[in-house]
Amino acid sequence: MKPIRVVIIGGGFAAVQFAKTLRKKLRPTECEILLFNRENHMVFHPLLADVAGASINVDAASAPLRQMLPGVGCRTERVQRIDPDSSEIEFDDGNGRLSRLRYDHVVIACGAESNVGIIPGMTEHAFAFKVMRDAIDLRQHIVHQLEYAEAASDRNRRCWHLSFVIVGAGFSGVEVAGEVNELVRSSTRFYRNFGKEDVRVTMVHSQNQILPEVAPALREFARKRMEKAGINIMLNTRAVAATNEGVELADGHMLTGGTIVCTIGTTTSPIIQALDVPKERGRIRTTPEMRIEGQTNAWAIGDCAYIINAVDNKPSPTTGQFAERQGRQAALNLVRIFKDEAVQPFRFKALGQLCSIGGYQAVAEMFGMRVSGFLAWFLWRGVYLFKLPTWSRRVKVALDWAWDVLFPRDLSFLNTDATQRLTHAYFRPGDLIQRQGESARFFSIIEEGEVEILKATAQDQEPRTVAILGQGDFFGEAALLGNRPHETTIRARTAVRLRQVGSGLFSQIAGKWGPLRDVLAKAVLRRSSDFWNRAPLIKTLLEGEPLAPFLDPLRPEPIHKDSTFADAMHALKEDPIGELVVLDETERLWGTLDRHDLYQIFARIAVVPADKREAVTQRRLSEFLAGNPLCVTLEDSALAAFATMLDRPISWLPVVQSKDDPRPVGYIRRERIIDHMIEKISSTQPQHVRAAAN
Ligand SMILES: Cc1cc2nc3c(=O)[nH]c(=O)nc-3n(C[C@H](O)[C@H](O)[C@H](O)COP(=O)(O)OP(=O)(O)OC[C@H]3O[C@@H](n4cnc5c(N)ncnc54)[C@H](O)[C@@H]3O)c2cc1C
Repeated sequence: MKPIRVVIIGGGFAAVQFAKTLRKKLRPTECEILLFNRENHMVFHPLLADVAGASINVDAASAPLRQMLPGVGCRTERVQRIDPDSSEIEFDDGNGRLSRLRYDHVVIACGAESNVGIIPGMTEHAFAFKVMRDAIDLRQHIVHQLEYAEAASDRNRRCWHLSFVIVGAGFSGVEVAGEVNELVRSSTRFYRNFGKEDVRVTMVHSQNQILPEVAPALREFARKRMEKAGINIMLNTRAVAATNEGVELADGHMLTGGTIVCTIGTTTSPIIQALDVPKERGRIRTTPEMRIEGQTNAWAIGDCAYIINAVDNKPSPTTGQFAERQGRQAALNLVRIFKDEAVQPFRFKALGQLCSIGGYQAVAEMFGMRVSGFLAWFLWRGVYLFKLPTWSRRVKVALDWAWDVLFPRDLSFLNTDATQRLTHAYFRPGDLIQRQGESARFFSIIEEGEVEILKATAQDQEPRTVAILGQGDFFGEAALLGNRPHETTIRARTAVRLRQVGSGLFSQIAGKWGPLRDVLAKAVLRRSSDFWNRAPLIKTLLEGEPLAPFLDPLRPEPIHKDSTFADAMHALKEDPIGELVVLDETERLWGTLDRHDLYQIFARIAVVPADKREAVTQRRLSEFLAGNPLCVTLEDSALAAFATMLDRPISWLPVVQSKDDPRPVGYIRRERIIDHMIEKISSTQPQHVRAAAN
């Protein structure tokens, strides 16, 4: 008889235990087991902090699945979709093709994903702490910071490199803070320009206690020990944003530092989000025996599943300990089904908790006993040592650990060229992104938000706004191409997200790709200070002119983003000029629509079958348009508005009350400003011509 096929998605604590147990209970002739995991190894998450802190090697915190699971077909492919109706999975075969595979039973054990994006700027500036890559990158980055600090001539900058902010004080936050602190402080003796007193490690936590999961006495022990080791713990403190400078707190205080680690925020994997089955806060709801509700041959276990524990009738916590037990008990239930026996509900009484706090110290609660200090740390390492798959690996790891106790931590790093990187950056309103006179390091593309270009001249006390850039615009090209310092300052007007290309990478792309080179050359010509020298008349005529006299009223009436596309067409038809402002639910500017946009949308609708077009026009406007339009405020000058329109090039812009109050108050049109200049020239021509000539 053909063996039944069990497909497991995931290769973490839950999946590995499931595969191991099933293989022990059923022979390969009875059951084929295929395990799909994105990586070819299992990660021991509790040891990730040690990898980041350079106290263990990477191989101590990971184990190759093939060696752990003899008799199981291990596949290093990412599953893209699960189709419970046809009992098939779809996966990327590594060559860009999607393959399908039928299963008799599927076990979903793909854990959780980190979601640092819940705090603005964390995606761009913080290290997440979930996968092996995060730990390796963090370790490299920390050692880099030590080298930068050694080289820094400015004391403030040195302190910034030596300041580390860890957001969250659950298990992973505490473990990573302890390890980072230990690595940095124990390494200061190898550097000449700074000492332990210059190091600042801060843990920020929104609750009134760290490690809420462990007993109060152990929690208190951990807090005191960590503070004694030099870690600054900020409780009842919420991080609200991250930037290149550090972490902004809810009270407005800025915690500066060159390293941010965000240990909070998780989400479910995209394949689970796309799966149409009952869920609870994103996790898959299961029956007591761990089958997905409403399914007979699909199971869910581990962090991605919402499983009620029969011991206390509460949902299982998302820990490795529970994931392992669920894996084992679900496999036994599957065997019971094959043997026509009754299935058992998930039932597990937690054995205890172990958490390392750095400096060879830990807190542990095992079988009702509480241990803290070095003994707990020894226990903690011993437990994970015996979870490793083979004796050869255990001996190797044990030797590594013994080495770490006796000798200093490894401070070597791979020197990756920062100028070759493509990175993201987040800035809060008012933050300076580049400064006039600074050397150029990045070419920046605006993904979200608006910036203003400021320029100070010898006569100006304060730099003045000369133009505004929005989504899709770029800056930094002139200084990079001309190999000279920035001639303008760029400041964020709203919250801004940038894609930044390092100077080395930029030179390679701009040098080799003709079309980009042309676009950049034109932009440099338009924006360079020479522009104003070559067009001094414009500057003379518009200098100091406020925007208000150029304002056109909002006509036709603004439309809301939830209106239908048909409503928008109707409104534009009525209007001879054909420009429309789109508002959000709070009457703030959300978008703009003109005849050109309308044409673009028509082009999209034209490909829809004729009988469906009417329905498409009834869809909401927000489905067709991108929000966040470029706009100017009543506080901006006519010169800045004109330069902004010339830069894109566009012929009109919506005007809002102010940066903090984005309610639209009218339009500004390029023609009106040009008419004004012509009028001025014709009335006082000789004087202006003389001024321009000077
Ligand atoms: C830093 C840190 C420290 C921790 N410390 C502890 C601790 O001390 N004690 C404790 O009990 N718990 C701890 N945990 C929690 C514990 O690690 C998790 O609860 C546990 O890993 C969950 O196991 P899992 O099998 O459900 O998922 P995971 O172990 O996360 O494994 C999921 C696997 O699925 C794979 N995958 C996901 N999507 C796909 C796809 N589409 N196709 C193929 N493969 C896919 C992933 O690559 C991953 O290998 C810690 C977690 C972290 C992040």
